[in-house]
Amino acid sequence: MTSPNIHLHERLRVLAQNIWWTWHPEVISLFSDLHPQLWRQVDHNPIAFLDQITPEQIEERASALVLHSRINYAFRRLNEYVAKDRTWGGTHCGNLNKRPVVYFSAEFGLHESLPIYSGGLGILAGDHLKSASDLGIPLIGIGLLYQQGYFSQRLSKDGWQEENYVNLQINNLPLKTVLDSSGQPLVLRIETRSGLLQARVWKLQVGRVCLMLLDSNVEGNSTEDRELTSRLYGGDNKLRIRQEVLLGIGGARILQALNISPGVLHLNEGHSAFAILEEVRRIMEYDQIPFYRAHRRVSLYTVFTTHTPVAAGHDRFPPDLVEEHLGIFREKMGLSHDDFMALGRVNPQDRSEPFCMTVLALKTSRRANGVSAIHGTVSRLAWNSLWPARSEKDVPIGHITNGVHVLSWLAPQMYQLFGTRLGQDWPTRMAYPDFWERISEIDDGELWETHQSLKMRLIRFVRRRLQLQSERQCHGDTLKQIDQILDPDVLTIGCARRFATYKRGDLILSQPERLAKLIEDAHRPIQIIFAGKSHPRDDDGKRLLQRIAQYSYNSAHVRRIVFVENYDYNVARHLVQGVDVWLNTPRRPLEACGTSGQKVLLNGGLNLSVLDGWWNEAYDGKNGFAVGHGGMHNDPDEQYRRDAEYLYETLEKEVIPLYYDRGTEGIPHHWVQRMKHAMQTLGWRFSADRMVKDYAESSYLPAASATSAEME
Ligand SMILES: *Cc1c(COP(=O)(O)O)cnc(C)c1O
Repeated sequence: MTSPNIHLHERLRVLAQNIWWTWHPEVISLFSDLHPQLWRQVDHNPIAFLDQITPEQIEERASALVLHSRINYAFRRLNEYVAKDRTWGGTHCGNLNKRPVVYFSAEFGLHESLPIYSGGLGILAGDHLKSASDLGIPLIGIGLLYQQGYFSQRLSKDGWQEENYVNLQINNLPLKTVLDSSGQPLVLRIETRSGLLQARVWKLQVGRVCLMLLDSNVEGNSTEDRELTSRLYGGDNKLRIRQEVLLGIGGARILQALNISPGVLHLNEGHSAFAILEEVRRIMEYDQIPFYRAHRRVSLYTVFTTHTPVAAGHDRFPPDLVEEHLGIFREKMGLSHDDFMALGRVNPQDRSEPFCMTVLALKTSRRANGVSAIHGTVSRLAWNSLWPARSEKDVPIGHITNGVHVLSWLAPQMYQLFGTRLGQDWPTRMAYPDFWERISEIDDGELWETHQSLKMRLIRFVRRRLQLQSERQCHGDTLKQIDQILDPDVLTIGCARRFATYKRGDLILSQPERLAKLIEDAHRPIQIIFAGKSHPRDDDGKRLLQRIAQYSYNSAHVRRIVFVENYDYNVARHLVQGVDVWLNTPRRPLEACGTSGQKVLLNGGLNLSVLDGWWNEAYDGKNGFAVGHGGMHNDPDEQYRRDAEYLYETLEKEVIPLYYDRGTEGIPHHWVQRMKHAMQTLGWRFSADRMVKDYAESSYLPAASATSAEME
């Protein structure tokens, strides 16, 4: 059976089974060229796509569009990619080949068709896996498969967030059942005082690395436990602790079942910290050594990354809940209740103190880090109490600043422009600063035109979305003038993030008259695209979101201020690739990193941001714009007022004049200089390749060699 049509269909199926395709524009375009509408309709899911198109249709379309060689080429590229062993990791990470890095995270954001992420933490974890794959670092991801994912967002007519949950179609995802040594589906079992908790495991291929996802929806579990992994961050404390028991203990048991011994445990945030304890238990049993020795050994190869700048944002569980779900596990390790609780307490003697996952992780990892320089400082201050004998600067928490996976976030048009002007093999050179230096060789006009076409693409996307939104909300007026909403010649500001009060997404609305003047200016107007979700239980965040949505519905500004619902990977991709300016106005120093601005700069957008998170170390005066000078105030309201003042001033005096300062052919040369300068100075520094190499060099390799030394 080698008729050519089956061949093509099969090859596309193989491509669909490894989400390597998501960061290769030449593969994405195969699907979108075959059937653009269907591709959109299935939310860019190639498996669902191939189920709805017959091999004959594919053959027909492929012939008409001459796609055969492109499909065969993509297929060959994937095989070469997976087989290649001469990689950065192959050269530098020999130690990890037998004992890989195991990377735990409660969420992974890899693509819109796999909605098992809520926001920044998940996207970061997804980018980490993709870069580890590109670099050839031996790594296994462990997470949870949420049957209903994170919610999809709609706004009511008065701007209030409504949350919808839809069941994932597992058949439509590139997931394979993980089998045990006897070839049966692997089932993990964890005993707790409120019943046996079981889970199956799915495997997802991310280029060269794989991601294991635990799923509690199995026969034999109580109804409640079957729904344990339904939703991301839903439910109460009990559900949360059980999810975290599953992620940490269950995750570590996958490794045991598959005979994988970890060289490094990397905990991406504290949710998975119970993994440490399961690893300790295994070593106690295997080597017949006491708790404290096993505990010390595991800490040598545990790496912990904290993401939450506010101490109140960390998971904490009361003693009775810990006893209910971990009591049996604790007894297996021979620990008393108090000794166990002490592992998660700042003050072990304080019996009223709850069990904090971050405390457990910090106490049991030799290497811990925040996600930007300023966040490192904030974290050392916040956790000084764990090392009372040390001064703040000696608290053992460092930092590795986040980065983004370049090929996932760079627009295909930019990818092509780089290829044409800087050599088709540029992706192999993107880790080096001198590659980015060469951006200056690209003609101003060509870069500007590419950017403008991306902006137009964003505008068409937003109009399509608004059309759907307004049909549902019956804003008849909006519908009629949909083609007049947003103008590609107007300075376009994007502001998309989780709407939590400390992120202050509404700062730009704080002086409505001043803003109205900027929007309505006859010669140099601005327009703003908002997007973002609030946590389902954060009513303050939802009120903030509602203020923004209502402002956008206000008929005076309908053409220039829009709110795009359901911020996800896809919306983010369009936004970061098409805006002129990316606005970020958190209350300093509460933004841990804020990676979305890094996606923007790759595509030629400029950041306008408070000097917080990554921007605090990235801004050099010429690669974007700063809101304020990095000041803080004890009174949040005063800080809000001051930052608002700075924001308007910077817009009025710097951003707007520079944008509308046009040369002979309408090109804003000074602006384009800034775009180039941002790409040159920041493109490599804030890439996930740089970040993952930093983890490898400063954390993974030292951690792995400490264990090998210990074992000898
Ligand atoms: C990048 C991204 C984030 C994180 O952005 P921040 O700047 O950290 O807020 C959140 N959600 C989505 C969909 C993203 O793509």
